[in-house]
Amino acid sequence: MHKYIVKSAQQITDTTLLLDLEQKSGQGVFVYRPGQYAAISFYHKGRPTPARCFSIVSSPTDQGKLRFSMRTKGRFTKAAAGLKPGDSVKIRGPYGGFVLDIAGSSDVVFLAGGIGVTPFMSMVSYATSVQSQTKITMFYSCQTQDDVPFLDELKHLELQNPNLRVVFVVGSGETNKLAGLSVVSGRLTPDVLDGVLDNEYNGRTFYTCGPPPYMNAMVKTLRSKGVQRSRIITEAFAQGSQLQTGQIQSWPYNVYVLSAASLILGSLAITISDMLKTLPPQALLNSANLAPTLTSANSRQHDLDTLVNSLPPLATTAPATSAAQASAQAAQTDATAAAAAASAAASVSTAATAAPVVVQAPAPAPVQKTCTTTQSGVTTCV
Ligand SMILES: Cc1cc2nc3c(=O)[nH]c(=O)nc-3n(C[C@H](O)[C@H](O)[C@H](O)COP(=O)(O)OP(=O)(O)OC[C@H]3O[C@@H](n4cnc5c(N)ncnc54)[C@H](O)[C@@H]3O)c2cc1C
Repeated sequence: MHKYIVKSAQQITDTTLLLDLEQKSGQGVFVYRPGQYAAISFYHKGRPTPARCFSIVSSPTDQGKLRFSMRTKGRFTKAAAGLKPGDSVKIRGPYGGFVLDIAGSSDVVFLAGGIGVTPFMSMVSYATSVQSQTKITMFYSCQTQDDVPFLDELKHLELQNPNLRVVFVVGSGETNKLAGLSVVSGRLTPDVLDGVLDNEYNGRTFYTCGPPPYMNAMVKTLRSKGVQRSRIITEAFAQGSQLQTGQIQSWPYNVYVLSAASLILGSLAITISDMLKTLPPQALLNSANLAPTLTSANSRQHDLDTLVNSLPPLATTAPATSAAQASAQAAQTDATAAAAAASAAASVSTAATAAPVVVQAPAPAPVQKTCTTTQSGVTTCV
């Protein structure tokens, strides 16, 4: 977020406000490309306004300054018209892909309808200030000759930039105030386009911004002239419009979608990680009925451990399998224990897959010998 100070807020036509801002000192540089837009908000009657999007009118080369122009028709724009020099304005952005690429386009055509002229003012000012060689033909449609914001600026830019040609298309009424300029009365028809562009549509990139019916008509005309859709770049002032080709890079719409997707993916990742921590991995991979099998294996292991631990200690160590045999021998006198040992031995293959069990072997029983001594004194023991 960048903080700016109002330098001036003035009506330049009956319905158009021009807002000039200067960056507050100590702020980072606000970097944008010609044609992009920003979200504006400020305090009105002590309360913060919602943010509204407006194309940046100034050129990126005008460092530390920002210019916007808006049709004053609703609550936000009327509140903006009440801004006074020195008031604070918050700027977020820049946003949008409706950008003039002077390096990639040698011949561009701008089709501006009404207040849709704003992003083109930034593009034309920029191209002029960097002395771009890009050829620009700009059609600017206005309702009357009294409703032409930026008339003086455009006249001035046309004088400065030999590659710029502006054609004013005035909907109705007199055109005497535009004497000396390229003017067409009425609407921007396919015939007017053909005439000004010499029927040459190949190799040109077309940009259009204006009211939706105007833009629809322009796109339709250009398509009928064989212009590929990829060479028609549009900016709609209604958010979420089909005509918003700049939306790929724009926000807040895309940021909302990306944030929602990230939240869902994040929650899934946390849930799966929790499941992996609380359940043994086999339980996740195998079917749910594995649980009883594990329980019974564990209880058999427990029985086996109890039995083995109850046996008398042996002098040697032996793995679990031979321990079971030893247990069976030692328990010959105990029928109950022998049966349990046999059961344990049977379960060793499933339950005793863990480390071998160390068992003390019983001490060997003392051998009973019978000895006899002959009369001659020889003793023989058997
Ligand atoms: C990328 C972009 C660039 C724009 N650039 C400019 C510009 O340079 N100059 C200009 O005059 N206008 C521009 N606009 C349009 C501008 O944002 C709205 O027209 C303006 O905010 C409306 O203000 P308001 O005071 O007339 O209406 P508000 O009183 O603020 O709102 C009236 C109603 O309109 C709705 N609304 C407000 N803005 C929009 C919108 N953009 N799309 C759909 N509904 C909306 C509100 O939700 C509300 O319901 C641009 C819009 C976009 C999306």
